[in-house]
Amino acid sequence: MSRIIKIGNVEIGGNNPIVIQSMTNTKTADVNATISQIRALSSAGCGIVRVSVPDFESIKSLKEIVKNVKIPIVADIHFDYRLAIESIKAGASKIRINPGNIGADWKVREVVRVAKEYGVPIRVGANSGSIKKGYTHLQKAEALAESALEEVRILESMGFDRIVISAKSSSVMETIEANVYIHSKVDYPLHIGVTEAGVGESAIVKSSIGIGALLIKGIGDTIRVSMAGDPIKEVLIAKEILKSLGKLKGPQVIACPTCARTEIEVEVLAKEVTEWLEGIDEELTVAVMGCVVNGIGEGKHADIGVTGTKDQAVIFIKGKIVEQVEKGKLKERFFFHLENLLGRKKT
Ligand code: SF4
Repeated sequence: MSRIIKIGNVEIGGNNPIVIQSMTNTKTADVNATISQIRALSSAGCGIVRVSVPDFESIKSLKEIVKNVKIPIVADIHFDYRLAIESIKAGASKIRINPGNIGADWKVREVVRVAKEYGVPIRVGANSGSIKKGYTHLQKAEALAESALEEVRILESMGFDRIVISAKSSSVMETIEANVYIHSKVDYPLHIGVTEAGVGESAIVKSSIGIGALLIKGIGDTIRVSMAGDPIKEVLIAKEILKSLGKLKGPQVIACPTCARTEIEVEVLAKEVTEWLEGIDEELTVAVMGCVVNGIGEGKHADIGVTGTKDQAVIFIKGKIVEQVEKGKLKERFFFHLENLLGRKKT
């Protein structure tokens, strides 16, 4: 089990819940846009947000951003130790910087001194593009892991142990193997994800396999689904990964794959039900099935479900039919029964 580390008001590691992370893609200097994106990410289920701090103008913004959001902000810095120090002073709850990239030893010591003073953890790591020269003779995943561990050793040599590690690759197998390796060597919390996973289905599949395989092994304390585009999607996918592994409570929609027997618009209704359930925390399984031949049987473990018949549709609760309904009224009646089951109106 990993050791517990506090990032602002969020504890990670140990038996704490896995925390979803994401990253803003607004310009950090655009304070309003960044604040509103962080708030949207938080409402979607993100627990920690990373923000790039590329220059001193962004430090000013960071101060304002931190004051106006409730979740911890991680400042992402490359190379410049002064940006790291100023980010901590501006209120960042964690910084991401590799000591190996800062330069002179005294600069690293200065960052460590300020991080200690403010109680701010440092995330270090490596990705497949930043494997250090000394490890190129190793197998790739091991080289990736050792590159990340070298950064850890620099901080440890300065008496710093509030460390979070990430080792990411765009290869699913390398990501898994590197994290398994690191987990076998140290007990710092691991931030896991498949980096540059791409777009659409490819990103979803890679992230789900990479993150999922590690979580099943008990490895990983914070997760990020990395995909091009709107970061809200990253959070929604991350939630699905956690839900499917029983690591996050919330509703699940199951839908049949459809076939020649399909009597209702399964995909359309399943999407509408999924949207309807957004913001609901109750553990609830909702089934949308195309026909009675297999629908009720396959969906009988659901709390509530619907299945098409030749002329109508039936709504069932825990496997028992509660209403036969005209297809035109199906949505309305289904949501009525869903609200009844929840015991409250959906606002
Ligand atoms: S539930 Fe019915 S419609 Fe859906 S895949 Fe199974 S047999 Fe086909």
